Amino acid sequence: MNGRVDRAVDVIVIGGGHAGSEAAAAAARLGARTLLITPDLDRIGQMSCNPAIGGIAKGVVAREVDALGGVMGRATDATRIHYRMLNRRRGPAVWGPRAQCDRGLYPRAVRRCLEEVPGLEFLQDRVDGLLLGGADGRTAQGVVTRGGERIGAASVVVTAGTFLRGRIHRGPGAGMSAGRAGEPPSIELAECLEGLGFEMGRFKTGTPPRLDGRSVDLASLEIQHGDPEDYRFAAYTRERVPEQRPCWITWTGAELQRVVERNLARSALYGGEIAGKGPRYCPSIEDKVVRFPDAPRHQVFLEPEGLDTHELYVNGLSTSLPGDVQEEFVRTVPGLEQARITRLGYAIEYDYFPPHQLRHTLAVRAMAGLYFAGQINGTTGYEEAAAQGIVAGANAALAALGRPAWTLERDEAYIGVLIDDLVTRGVDEPYRLFTSRSEFRLLLRQDNAVARLGPMARDMGLLTPQQGAALERELEAQSTIRQWFTGTRLREREVREVVAELDGGWSGGSITGSELLQRPGVTAEAIVGVVGGAGPGVVDSEAFRSVEVELKYAGYVSRERERAEVLRSRARFRLPDDLEYPALVSMSAEAREKLARIRPETLAQAGRVPGVSQADLQNLVMEVRRLR
Ligand code: FAD
Repeated sequence: MNGRVDRAVDVIVIGGGHAGSEAAAAAARLGARTLLITPDLDRIGQMSCNPAIGGIAKGVVAREVDALGGVMGRATDATRIHYRMLNRRRGPAVWGPRAQCDRGLYPRAVRRCLEEVPGLEFLQDRVDGLLLGGADGRTAQGVVTRGGERIGAASVVVTAGTFLRGRIHRGPGAGMSAGRAGEPPSIELAECLEGLGFEMGRFKTGTPPRLDGRSVDLASLEIQHGDPEDYRFAAYTRERVPEQRPCWITWTGAELQRVVERNLARSALYGGEIAGKGPRYCPSIEDKVVRFPDAPRHQVFLEPEGLDTHELYVNGLSTSLPGDVQEEFVRTVPGLEQARITRLGYAIEYDYFPPHQLRHTLAVRAMAGLYFAGQINGTTGYEEAAAQGIVAGANAALAALGRPAWTLERDEAYIGVLIDDLVTRGVDEPYRLFTSRSEFRLLLRQDNAVARLGPMARDMGLLTPQQGAALERELEAQSTIRQWFTGTRLREREVREVVAELDGGWSGGSITGSELLQRPGVTAEAIVGVVGGAGPGVVDSEAFRSVEVELKYAGYVSRERERAEVLRSRARFRLPDDLEYPALVSMSAEAREKLARIRPETLAQAGRVPGVSQADLQNLVMEVRRLR
């Protein structure tokens, strides 16, 4: 590196959003001296759009982040004002916890959690460039801040979210540079990264207007209360959970459709103002009207923004139309006839870096010491960002400390699915997680995140001693419950009682609790109730519910494990870094071209690259063996 540095740390994290917070916490937990640099310390963990965490698949990720010692689960519990378990009518493999949080309290809770982490320092500043060094000048060795500081580091993690050359739009000709409403974009950092020759792209996303709840006729709307149970995202710590607030449901209609259609040319999205691609699954109201012209109505959720404010988030009306059109279409919605807008909706366009340029550690392939995490990798959502933050931050620290890298497989965590999808398939629209993206949904449940990932996190050093102790207690409780069910034999009379209660017949003799549990309709609670005594302990604990699912679906779970093992054996077959794909003529031209671009690290990853067939894989194995 040329020139002096003012100071040096092990890891620098650029940006204090959801990826940056988790990256900084993970790096410092592993013992790396870590510096989090962000332009406004009061906006660490800021929720740019809906103040909600979780949902289908995303809720599992939030729990995985927590199991790995992250801050998201704790901050959610401490600030959640409405909680629901989504998909409850379907199997437990796809349940998704979701919490609406207090927008003001959430960032404060994140900051409190971060300030508890020893070895983590903060700097309010903006990073404008990287310090480069190494033999070929392609090793990141630190950063240069707007304040003029040159800070050295062994690893640098970039988590700049929607800020890279961000441009917000509301109506035609009204675009302006911003990272999100009221905050400047990062232009210098974007130019620095572009100058390093990385492939770049442009994506967009949007946010709806917010309303003053006092101007909404809430009494006329359908009310939605939160679920009553005391569900927790955080497994190791018990936060004080605020009291719940309700949400309300209303619907758009033909009048809104007419207003939007009449003004489409004034939409930044449809008036040709925005080039970037948007998230298919969070469409703007313009998108909905254009894509589903025959849909008579669209659902709108009115969600509280906080405990001490009347402001409502209008989930479902994201838009880039000008303010006067927003006023007009909002007032066509039942209950909102007199609604006053407190903040206008807008769309934002920003730079991202196609993630096939990354390794599974989220290290940038073409530059040592540099990691990317979050929206910058083409994803959308707080949970997706947080998940990447943990992996990038941990690996940045492990590399700085000279320890082996850490990755998660697809059968270990949704985080593994997310990162593998990004790296091996790339993205051509903002990437969001769904349960359908995982081939191992029964293995990757929200209820077993701690059992799956806690021991790994503890062994790596991602957990505090207190968290480690809480993990031990949880695993012990699960083991006691499991042993009780596998070791308790029910006599025929007891079996009949359980099954008769559930309207079924039973023709066999005695049977263990775990075998009986596999019968349709039999619950663990019913078995404990019939056997009586102390049973396996508390029946409504998370440990109890988790073991119940594991035993009930044991047959399916073991089949998924067998499939996972096949994948694992392919994952052990490593592909050389310098493989000359164009020369491997036994493979199809398409496979050679795609593999040369993605450069998978293992045979399993190669198998997931679109355009690579089973025959290509077999030929690849032969070619690699021949070259060895
Ligand atoms: P962010 O949360 O954006 O954090 C980036 C951080 O980096 C910020 O703290 C910023 O100040 C900091 N930073 C930037 N440049 C620098 C620099 N040069 N130096 C130091 N720090 C820097 N997600 C959805 O799932 N659904 C939606 O509908 C949705 N709508 C959205 C609408 C809008 C208008 C916006 C802005 C975002 C929306 N999102 C949505 C995305 C969601 O906000 C992000 O996915 C999530 O916040 C990404 O987390 P992140 O940590 O990658 O980035």
